[in-house]
Amino acid sequence: MDAKNQNFWEEKIESGPVPENDAAFDIIVVGGGPAGSAAASYAALDGNKVLLLEKSNYPKDKTCGDAVGGKSLSHVEELGVSKMLKSTPHFEFDSVLFSSPSGDEFRVELPHGKLAGYVFPRIQFDWVLFHRAVELIRKNGGSVIQDFTVKELVYENVDGGGDPGIKSGDKRKIIGVRGKHGDKKLEFHAPLTIGAGGVYCPVADSLVRETYDLDLVDTKKKHYSAAFRQYWKGISGVDDKLGAIEFHYVEGVLPGYFWIFPIGNGISNVGFGMALADIYKQDKKLRGLQEFVINGRFADRFRNAELIDGSSKGWQLPLGSPRRTPTKPRRAFGNGCMLIGDSASLVDPFTGEGIGNALLSAKLAISFFDKIVDRNGLPLEKGLKYQRKLWDTLGKELTNSFKLQNYTRRKWLVNWFVKKAKKKQELRRLLTESLTSREAQVKLTSPWILFRHLVF
Ligand SMILES: Cc1cc2nc3c(=O)[nH]c(=O)nc-3n(C[C@H](O)[C@H](O)[C@H](O)COP(=O)(O)OP(=O)(O)OC[C@H]3O[C@@H](n4cnc5c(N)ncnc54)[C@H](O)[C@@H]3O)c2cc1C
Repeated sequence: MDAKNQNFWEEKIESGPVPENDAAFDIIVVGGGPAGSAAASYAALDGNKVLLLEKSNYPKDKTCGDAVGGKSLSHVEELGVSKMLKSTPHFEFDSVLFSSPSGDEFRVELPHGKLAGYVFPRIQFDWVLFHRAVELIRKNGGSVIQDFTVKELVYENVDGGGDPGIKSGDKRKIIGVRGKHGDKKLEFHAPLTIGAGGVYCPVADSLVRETYDLDLVDTKKKHYSAAFRQYWKGISGVDDKLGAIEFHYVEGVLPGYFWIFPIGNGISNVGFGMALADIYKQDKKLRGLQEFVINGRFADRFRNAELIDGSSKGWQLPLGSPRRTPTKPRRAFGNGCMLIGDSASLVDPFTGEGIGNALLSAKLAISFFDKIVDRNGLPLEKGLKYQRKLWDTLGKELTNSFKLQNYTRRKWLVNWFVKKAKKKQELRRLLTESLTSREAQVKLTSPWILFRHLVF
C-alpha cells in the first residue's frame, strides 16, 4: 500500500502467487465481498489454510445503500479493521427519519451519544475487509486469487447419509471447485466450500437446483427485492458528518421505499427499492420510479443537487423472509458446503440491510467447522446445525421484518402509523428500542401492541 496515497482504497490489492492446479486447502471461500472476506478471515484466525476466490479485482464497487448498521460493528472490531475503516470518509448516523405517503415525518433517535451505525461507501468497506482477509490468509499459509471466476463445483458420490428432511443432491458431496483465471482452467479441493458469491453464487445455484429442482432465477419473484442507487451532491436538508439517514414512503410508488443516506462531504447515497414481484406490476422500471420520486415530492430538496456521473446502478437483494420448509430460511448447507450472506438469502426484508447478516453468518458458519474432525468433508448434520443456529439467531427479526414489509403495502396504515408516531412519544420510544433490541422488534409487529399504540 502506498503510504502517501490518502485514498488507499483506490489501490490494487496484491494477493500473492496463484497456487498450483489441484492444490488442497482446509476451506475454499467463493466470493470476496463482505461475507467471503469475513469468513476467510475468521477461518484463517482459527488456524485454517484458506483459499479465497474472487471474480473481480480490487478496487471495486458494489451497488448498495452503504449503511452499515450496529450488527456489523462487533465483527468489524473483531476482525481488526475498525480503525482503518474509520480513517476513510464516512457518515455516522444516530437517528432514522421516516416519512409517510401523506408527507408526515418523524425521527427515531438513539439516546444521546449512541451511534446506530455508519454509512461507508462500499468501495471503501469491501476493500478494507478484503485487504485484511488477504493479510490473515497469507500469514496462515493460504492463498487468494482475484480475477478467478468459479464456474462449477467438483462433486464426489457418497453413500446415503441421513438426510435431515431434504430431498435430493445429498448422495453427492462437494469436494472442491473449478474455475477460470485469465485463460487458465484450475481446480482446487477442500473438505468445506463456503458459498459467498452473492445473488448469483455458483454454490447457492447448485444447492437450490439440487434441493428444490429450481434454478436461482425461478425463485426470484417471491423472496427478492431489487433496488436502484445513485450518488448525488448538494441535496438540501441532509446532515454532513453526524445525523439521520432517511426512509420515505411516497404516494404513487408504494410498497417501495426511497432512501437518502448521506456519506459526508455533501454527497448522499440515494436509492429506491421494491419487492421484485411488485416491480413487475409497475409500468416504470426502478430508475423511472426513482426519477418520479426525485422530480415529484423531493423536487425542492434536489433543486440544486447534482447527480454524480456513472453512479446509477441497480441490483437484486435476496431476502431472508421465512420459507415453508422445516428449516425456514432457504437451504444454506449441503454435503461439504455452507452458504453465507446474500448467497444464503439473508437480507432484511424491511430495511434491505444485508451486510450485518453477511458478517454474522460468516462467523457462525466457520464456528461449525473443525479441520481435523471434518477432514473428509463437512457432514450434512453439521450443516443442518449451522442452519438451525442461523434461524435461531435471525429468525425472529427476519420474520418481523417480513411482516413490516407487508404492512407497507397498505398506504392508510403507513400514513396512520407515521402520524401517530409523530405525536406519541411512547411509540417513538418503542421504535427507538427496536433499532437495538429484538424484544422491541417483536412488540412492534404484535397486532395487539400496534393496535393499542395506534388507536389509544
Ligand atoms: C441497491 C442496494 C442497496 C443496498 N443497501 C444496503 C445497505 O444500505 N445496507 C446493507 O447492510 N445492505 C444493503 N444492501 C444489501 C448488501 O449489498 C448485501 O446484502 C451485501 O453486499 C451482501 O454481501 P455478500 O458478501 O454476501 O455478497 P456480495 O457483496 O454480492 O459479494 C459477493 C462477491 O462474490 C463475487 N463473486 C460472484 N460470483 C463469483 C464467482 N462465480 N466466482 C468468484 N467470485 C464470485 C463477487 O464479485 C462479489 O465480490 C443493498 C443491496 C442493494 C442491491
